Amino acid sequence: MVVGEMVQEVELAVIGAGPGGYTAALRAAELGIKTILVDAMPKPGGVCLHMGCIPSKALLHAAEIVSTAKTAAKIGLHFEAPQLNVDELRTWKTSVTDKLAAGIAGMCKSAGVEILHGNARFEDSRSVRVDRDGESAVRIKFKHAILATGSRPTSLPRLFKNEKDMASSRIMDSTGALKLEEVPKTLLVVGGGYIGLEMGTVYAALGTAVTVIEMTDGLLPGVDRDLVKPLATHLQSSFKAIYLNAKVTSLEDTGSAVAVGVVGKDLPASQTFDRVLIAVGRVPNSDNIGLENTSVEIDKHGFVGIDECCRTADKRIFAIGDVSGQPMLAHRAMRQGQVAAEVLAGRQSAFDNRAIPAVVFTEPEIAWCGLTETEAKARSVTVGAAKFPWSASGRAMTLADTNGQTKVIYDPETTQVLGVGMVGPRAGELIAEAVVAIEMGAVLEDLIVAIHPHPTLSETVMEAAMTAAARLERQRARETEKQTAPS
Ligand code: FAD
Repeated sequence: MVVGEMVQEVELAVIGAGPGGYTAALRAAELGIKTILVDAMPKPGGVCLHMGCIPSKALLHAAEIVSTAKTAAKIGLHFEAPQLNVDELRTWKTSVTDKLAAGIAGMCKSAGVEILHGNARFEDSRSVRVDRDGESAVRIKFKHAILATGSRPTSLPRLFKNEKDMASSRIMDSTGALKLEEVPKTLLVVGGGYIGLEMGTVYAALGTAVTVIEMTDGLLPGVDRDLVKPLATHLQSSFKAIYLNAKVTSLEDTGSAVAVGVVGKDLPASQTFDRVLIAVGRVPNSDNIGLENTSVEIDKHGFVGIDECCRTADKRIFAIGDVSGQPMLAHRAMRQGQVAAEVLAGRQSAFDNRAIPAVVFTEPEIAWCGLTETEAKARSVTVGAAKFPWSASGRAMTLADTNGQTKVIYDPETTQVLGVGMVGPRAGELIAEAVVAIEMGAVLEDLIVAIHPHPTLSETVMEAAMTAAARLERQRARETEKQTAPS
């Protein structure tokens, strides 16, 4: 045995205490499995809690207050420009994440889950070594392990002119941007995906002139264009500039700003920004953790291969969350965490969900679940799609915000609801109804006969379903007419 190493035996070692890992550990403990939860970060919660979902939504809340105060003028309420105290905002954001981290630690304690702080590496299919700063390493011998090591931002080292630029605090990833070290005068966001647009929304509301450069021909690639349109229109006015079909070719910290090389139509070859945020995607944390010492298989993108019970190719090791594939979202990780723990406890459980919701927390918000029109087209699936514009919603009018729409995607033969997409304020809260409907195999009629509270934005789901049903009825009437018409 290595000097200074302790050995611990457990039934289950969960590596990574993000939403996937802590959910799995708590569920396993609840089902009577002796569990240890290991994380390299000092507090549990993972990327989601400390550098992702929660801090970004806290800052987006601040952004929403600023823009609500601004738009209130149109209903006769006039506020002074907000006085921003960045230190206080940062302190509040950290207090939110600290409180939640303490809550997770408390739940683990009461469930009997030990949290071990350190960096884990698989030695073989039965043990991990956990290296801890200034303390002896721990070798954990396990019966089973759940890999929940998450993901990290994709870096673009080839863009940096000099090696020193890689350490520049002016060139940030999402973690750096969430630190909110300052509110720069100008910010370039590289990448028009959800993380770039959410962070751009925050900085723009705080007073930064935000420019976005996106490589493809539209923001939020892959999302239905009709949902993106109202957001794109709004961002045209709240951001300084959005360049599509454009690429960043180089980045250099000049000592006082960042010189950025760009290619794209109508774009100057070089521009200067106070800060740059690189938000071009995330890569799974499957490297440098000793998986080569196990039978776990990894695909060419670095994702760990799993079946619908979250089992890897190594019968002792399960994998969940970002490290196990797309979509890289916290709620997918949590559900998988429950599944893996239940399968380990001998229960019948599988990640067989029909709808994984996705939300872009911009202004307006975009949310969707189930089949999208884009996917239906790509897979040549025949679907019907009916929309209800929020300009016709009483609730949207009372909120003085009618920039939205709800779309129901359905099977024209069976009328089963296959997908729902929406754009507008609080779309992220509203999508949950659609998730339940799709999980339960609801048809249009189910959304129509269920009484929706009035006046609420949830009525737009019912209204879109009514639009679809009315359209189908008219179609059927026309067909019957044709068949019964004298020849
Ligand atoms: P993670 O949360 O990534 O946690 C993995 C943990 O494993 C980390 O704590 C890490 O320290 C630990 N770890 C890694 N390697 C080791 C090792 N060798 N030894 C010990 N510990 C290790 N998702 C949403 O659903 N909604 C959102 O609104 C949302 N917003 C986001 C905003 C931003 C800016 C970002 C970056 C992400 C956002 N996400 C959002 C994505 C979400 O954060 C991830 O999908 C989620 O955190 C994945 O959870 P996980 O459990 O797989 O892993």
